[in-house]
Amino acid sequence: MCSLCNNSHTETSQHIFIDCVFAKSIWQWLSNCLNMQCNFSSIPDAIDICNRRWSPLCKVVVLSAVINCLNTIWFCILNFSKTTTSQILNYMGLFTKNLRTHFEKD
Ligand SMILES: [Zn+2]
Repeated sequence: MCSLCNNSHTETSQHIFIDCVFAKSIWQWLSNCLNMQCNFSSIPDAIDICNRRWSPLCKVVVLSAVINCLNTIWFCILNFSKTTTSQILNYMGLFTKNLRTHFEKD
């Protein structure tokens, strides 16, 4: 049973990181931040968005965002009883704000 969506899905890495409705909301958040439709049908697909025609700096930022999404999902699996979806989305929003603040300085 998946502890994030409480459905009877087995906690496989494919379900936890990609197919779970919780993971899908995280990936949708990233797509919205990038203002583009992205293919998140597997973990390699998620990492592959870094291989688009971005500048070298953008590739690092996008890769950091993908890793942060994976890390957040894993964090939520470990702390599912203490975390709500709105708390996670607030955390992700703070991450985005910090990135923008950092890059707007330059
Ligand atoms: Zn699930």
